[in-house]
Amino acid sequence: MQERQMSEEVRNDNPYSRLMALKRMGIVQNYQQIKEFTVLVVGVGGVGSVLCEMLTRCGIGKLIMYDYDKVELANMNRLFFTPQQVGLSKVEAAKQTLLNINPDVVIEAYNENITSGTGFNQLLERLQNGALKGGPVNLVLSCVDNYAARMTINSACNELDQVWMESGVSEDAMSAHIQLMIPGETACFACAVPVAVVENTEQQIKREGVCAASLPTTMGITAGFLAQNTLKYLLGFGQTTFLLGYNALADFFQNYAIMPNPECKDHNCLKRQQLNSEKLRLNKLQKRKE
Ligand code: ATP
Ligand code: ZN
Repeated sequence: MQERQMSEEVRNDNPYSRLMALKRMGIVQNYQQIKEFTVLVVGVGGVGSVLCEMLTRCGIGKLIMYDYDKVELANMNRLFFTPQQVGLSKVEAAKQTLLNINPDVVIEAYNENITSGTGFNQLLERLQNGALKGGPVNLVLSCVDNYAARMTINSACNELDQVWMESGVSEDAMSAHIQLMIPGETACFACAVPVAVVENTEQQIKREGVCAASLPTTMGITAGFLAQNTLKYLLGFGQTTFLLGYNALADFFQNYAIMPNPECKDHNCLKRQQLNSEKLRLNKLQKRKE
C-alpha cells in the first residue's frame, strides 16, 4: 500500500505524466512522439526565446536556434533572459537555460546572421539535414523582427518545400499575428507583403535612435500561440491555424487563410503552386475512379 502511494507520488512529480495525461484524456493520441520532432527557430528575442522555453518544457526532441545578437539590459522588459546573461550571445544564453530546464532536448545554437552568404548556406544545409535522425527538420518558426530576415526564410522554405510559421508583433506592441506557410498551398511571405512593409513603417521605426515599443505580454501571447500551433501541427490534433491576427486593444482575434498569389515574385513559390495544383488534379481524378 505504502509502495503504491510512493510510486503515485513519483509519477505526479514527473512533468511527463502531466503531458501524457493529454493522451489518457483522448485529446492527443501520440503525445510521446514529440520527442522525435525537430524544430528550427530563427530569432531568439522577445517571442522566440519564450517559444523555445515552451517547446523545451513540452519535451520537443531537438531545437535548432539561430540569432546574431547578444543579450542586452534593454531586453529585460521581455521574458526569459536575465541580467546575469547580458553580453552572452542570445543563442548561447538560451541554450544554457533550456538545457537546465530539460537536459533531454538536443540543442544546436548558431550565432549567425541568416541573411549573410555563409549564414544562408548553413541555414539551407541545416534545414535539409538537421533533424534528430538526419533529413529535413519538421517545422521552421520565424521570430525575427525585420523584412530581410523574413524574406530569407521565405525563399529558403520555398526552395526546399519546407513548412514554416511566421510571427510578428507590431511596433506599438498592440497587435500581433502568426501565419502558417505551406509552400504552394497557402500564401508565402512574398505573395502578400504586410501593410507595414508596403508603407515602409518598419524601416522608419528601425532607424537609429528611434525606440519601438515592446511588451512582454504581447510577445508572450504570440509565443504561446506559436507553440500551441506547433504542437497541433506536429502531433496532428485540433486545427492548425492559417493566419491568426490579435488586436490587444480590443482583445479581438481574426482567423483566416490567404491563398497563394499566382503573380508572386518568388519563382520557387510559383513552382510549388504549379506542383500543388497538379497534385490536386490527380487526387480528383483518383477520387472519381474510386
Ligand atoms: P528590438 O528590435 O525591440 O530592440 P530585438 O532586436 O531583441 O529587440 P525581438 O523582436 O525581440 O528583437 O527579436 C527578434 C530577434 O530576431 C532578435 O533577437 C534578432 O537578433 C533576431 N534576428 C533578426 N534578424 C536576424 C537575422 N538576419 N539573423 C539572425 N537573427 C536575426
Ligand atoms: Zn508566394
